[in-house]
Amino acid sequence: MKITPIIGLEVHVELKTDSKMFCGCNAEHFHAKPNTHTCPVCLGMPGALPVPNKKACQWCVKLGLALGCTVNEYSFFERKNYFYPDLSKSYQITQYQKPFTVNGKITVQGQEIRINRAHMEEDTGKSVHMVINGEESTLLDFNRSGVPLVEIVSEPDIVLSIQAKEYLLKIQQLIRYLGISNADIEKGSMRCEPTVNLKIEDNGKTFYTPLSEIKNVASLTGVQNAIDFEIERQTQAFKETKEVKNSKNKTTRGWDADKARTFLQREKEGSADYRYFPEPDIPPIEFTPAEIEEIRMTLPEMSEQKIEKYQTIYGLSDYDAKLLAEDQNFAAAYEALFDTEFVSKDQDTLKVFAKFAANLFLGSIKTYLNETQENIDSSKIVAKYFWDLFNSVQNKELSSSVAKQVTTESYKTGKHPVEIAKEMGLIQVSDSNQIEKIAKEVVVANPKAVQDYQKNPMSIGFLIGQLMRASGGSANPQVAKEILEKLLKNPTL
Ligand code: ZN
Ligand code: MN
Repeated sequence: MKITPIIGLEVHVELKTDSKMFCGCNAEHFHAKPNTHTCPVCLGMPGALPVPNKKACQWCVKLGLALGCTVNEYSFFERKNYFYPDLSKSYQITQYQKPFTVNGKITVQGQEIRINRAHMEEDTGKSVHMVINGEESTLLDFNRSGVPLVEIVSEPDIVLSIQAKEYLLKIQQLIRYLGISNADIEKGSMRCEPTVNLKIEDNGKTFYTPLSEIKNVASLTGVQNAIDFEIERQTQAFKETKEVKNSKNKTTRGWDADKARTFLQREKEGSADYRYFPEPDIPPIEFTPAEIEEIRMTLPEMSEQKIEKYQTIYGLSDYDAKLLAEDQNFAAAYEALFDTEFVSKDQDTLKVFAKFAANLFLGSIKTYLNETQENIDSSKIVAKYFWDLFNSVQNKELSSSVAKQVTTESYKTGKHPVEIAKEMGLIQVSDSNQIEKIAKEVVVANPKAVQDYQKNPMSIGFLIGQLMRASGGSANPQVAKEILEKLLKNPTL
């Protein structure tokens, strides 16, 4: 029996526009006092007229373009009818027959995942369940009702749960690069619903198990675990019941993160149950080719392009390039080091610096940001500091490990890293005249050790130690060793 999972993902992303999708209410709902960001339109009062948010529509198109989609020049909104208490109109304004963008694709770890569509819709309100006066009660908060939402639907091209996770990370990174949403899964501004079923080949016959759509998955690890659980559950269910997919048995299952299992929520409505029909209160929307091009021009340099650039121009490894490009602001801060008067015109030096700075960005600054859970503050990245530090290491005044140490300190305090090294007594003396002077004194003061050296060259360690001590620890040990060896081999010097 050969089992192949068929996994698709629906992703909902809340856009961070100032106002809601069809009214002027403040779209920022996180932690706002319940029902303070509402009006007759987003409360679904009869007769209230929706007016589409132009910026949200443009951002949806922008996202579609970044996903390689085609933009429909003619599209319209539709009503999707269903009843939940947090959907006060009893329908959601969304897109069905003619979404803004269709047929895209993204590459995830070398594999192409097709995108069916990225369309525009509105978010629902929130039901809050609590016990009031000893009774189980449900309270409704409509602050989120009508917040612009983009839905990205993939084709079921994913076969592994880890791929699903990587796909979501990629989508999240792309959205953040575009600056249209925080795409925060824990806070719900990015929500993921995997659909899972199995293709089972057994004795020359092929079966498909009933499709499950999994809701309420609030983390990337949750998505991965929910898919794995569902694959296992469907495999067992097939072995027991031999039930196969038909048009009716699509189900919605919830994910219980604590118990690490999915559970049946309801038999899924088919699209016929939604009774879609064109939204009569909003005229069709048209994007001219010129308008689409104008939006395309606003696309920033994406992570793939940065990774490519870092490898070809800066000579960085694929690994370093990917880590640097993970976050757009972090990448921009790194790139700013090359956009300065201090930049070396010599290509080789430039590459050495690029690698040096990448090590500091990934080794010191990223580590610090991870520890403190902060985002990079680009005002704290001073190009001159990095070039000065680079020159100090090139001149052997500082070791690379000291450079790492003082970079974190400099980022925290805003002080010049080389100054910090000086204050901490971490500057190495590599000036051979200066070291030679100390070396001569050490040789004169330690005749016994000099004799030992003539019998056993390994014993030079003692003399290096004496030299380091005499220099207050500031001598570059490598240079010290070379000078001592030279002196000991030619006592006449
Ligand atoms: Zn409103
Ligand atoms: Mn939706």
